Amino acid sequence: MTAETVCVGTEILLGNIVNTNAAYLAGQYAALGIASYYQTAVGDNEERIMAAIGAALSRGSDLVVINGGLGPTQDDITKDCTAKLLGRTLYEDAESFSRIKEFFGKRGSSMSANNARQALVVKGSEILPNDNGLAPGMFIELKKAESKKFGSEKKQYLMLLPGPPEELRIMWEKYSVPILRKLTGSVIYSAMVKVCGRSESEVADILDDLITNSKEVTVAPYAKTGEVHLRVTAAASDEKDAKKLVKPVVKEIKSRLGDSVYTTHEETSLEQSVVDLLLANKLTVTTAESCTGGLVAGRLINVPGVSEIFKSGYITYSNKAKRKIIGVKKKTLQKFGAVSAEVVKEMAEGVAFYSRADVSVAVSGIAGPDGGSEEKPVGLVYIGVNVCGHVTVKEYHFSGNREKIRNNSVAHALILMRQCILEYYSRLTFGEAEQ
Ligand code: ATP
Ligand code: MG
Repeated sequence: MTAETVCVGTEILLGNIVNTNAAYLAGQYAALGIASYYQTAVGDNEERIMAAIGAALSRGSDLVVINGGLGPTQDDITKDCTAKLLGRTLYEDAESFSRIKEFFGKRGSSMSANNARQALVVKGSEILPNDNGLAPGMFIELKKAESKKFGSEKKQYLMLLPGPPEELRIMWEKYSVPILRKLTGSVIYSAMVKVCGRSESEVADILDDLITNSKEVTVAPYAKTGEVHLRVTAAASDEKDAKKLVKPVVKEIKSRLGDSVYTTHEETSLEQSVVDLLLANKLTVTTAESCTGGLVAGRLINVPGVSEIFKSGYITYSNKAKRKIIGVKKKTLQKFGAVSAEVVKEMAEGVAFYSRADVSVAVSGIAGPDGGSEEKPVGLVYIGVNVCGHVTVKEYHFSGNREKIRNNSVAHALILMRQCILEYYSRLTFGEAEQ
């Protein structure tokens, strides 16, 4: 099955809102094993909305998901355009009407004619209830003659969803997915493999054959700061068979990427995996941050249960703070500068000593836009991790603006922590004496 998305709203074209619905739906298609080759954004204009939906049908897409413009205002014309395009009429759906009436009744206000318009639906559609708003969604199976108008011989479907993401997502999960499952006649199973510390292109190279040759099982990579997420999906007649297809591919990915895979659980974040490692090894942790200004501590503290191991974190932004609070030597600062491997090493050692923590992480870098030099350009960041006295310092060169450089620094601080803890324990396992 192929699907495409048509997002309706002039505010998307003006850049006033980010088209997160398109991204959400794209992820959902991938998870359902539905191929998608086009996305369209179109303004609140009758002619162009009809042209956009018509074009999608003419391309032969099996399913066109249209979202936005189901609301009560004059510029919400998606239903009118759809009905006109198909040559169908709109009628008032009694159940949607009473839901809207009840909503206004509860608020003690009366319902306007515009609000009543929200209960209008395209004739012959299956109604998708809106559990988080007022405008109902619609699922429309095109008649043969309707598809023919767009030059298509196959069965085609339209799905109309509301624009507000919190309404769209609930409707999609609760009502659209079961319809699509039935249509595709198969159960979709997908697993998530989360990778850290490797670029998207590196991962794509290593998994090239799995990504490009995948027919039965699709492997779709998504890049995040410092991470690559791989969704592995298969369709089969029942869940057991779909799982059977997915499992060996996940195993293969794990064996090719090794320790870079930090989880195969959808809900587990990078910081969660670091905290899990610390908890499992009963290691307390502390942070000393300069350019990241507490963001590394913030990410760790995102994780419930971190209080068992996180005692304190420091933002030592100035040289004086680095000296007075965590004991970096004045001489080191003068000789090498605040952004240097030497200073970060002393930060990692000092903060672990003063907070009596087993593990510490220290970050110092030039986030820009000013403060760079030829020798130390903007984007130069040093990260140090101390695991029970074993200190590792790495030099990074990040690009982009201040926000991007800082976000990259945070992600890589977590990645380096994870890597150093794993290496520390593998060294112990392989018999090197603990110092
Ligand atoms: P409403 O009943 O709120 O008018 P609607 O179905 O008519 O809903 P729109 O009027 O198109 O939808 O959009 C309402 C709001 O939903 C927008 O202001 C925006 O905040 C959000 N929204 C709409 N489309 C998108 C999109 N593609 N991605 C993210 N958010 C969106
Ligand atoms: Mg609207």
